[in-house]
Amino acid sequence: MSNKSIQAQLTENIKKICGEHGIEPIWLKDCGIDDRNRANKKQKKIWVRNIRDKGDYAAALHEIGHVIRDPDECDPLAVLNANLNAWKWARDNHGHEFDDKSWKRLHSSLSKYKADVSDLADAHEVHDLLKEAEEKVPSLKPVAPNLGTVRTSHLPKKDK
Ligand SMILES: [Zn+2]
Repeated sequence: MSNKSIQAQLTENIKKICGEHGIEPIWLKDCGIDDRNRANKKQKKIWVRNIRDKGDYAAALHEIGHVIRDPDECDPLAVLNANLNAWKWARDNHGHEFDDKSWKRLHSSLSKYKADVSDLADAHEVHDLLKEAEEKVPSLKPVAPNLGTVRTSHLPKKDK
């Protein structure tokens, strides 16, 4: 299959899955905006970028997972858990379609949300899914359970 027809096929899949769950997909490009993917559970809508590869495809599945599984809270741990659940939904139901780009998208997304939570328990199950991605794609940089991403933006700037 050519790239064009693969993209068309993946796009059709997303439309079909949305249809099965009563979700309205909105293509950011049609709105003339180049924004980040997002989901609104109350409105049962997802806003997604055009699907060029399975990374984009996995990201769109993840937004569907948000509509299906999001709680109505918003502290960093709740946000991490919501994103973990959305990725789990995407992996549980469509993981057999994931390629390296899909797993990389999952890994970078969860690493980011994990870094926002201070004192995250080593046993938190986000580490299981990160590890699973690292096993699927050996080139991924492992995210240690107890370290997270080192963030320096809160440190005072040194005078030159
Ligand atoms: Zn998300």
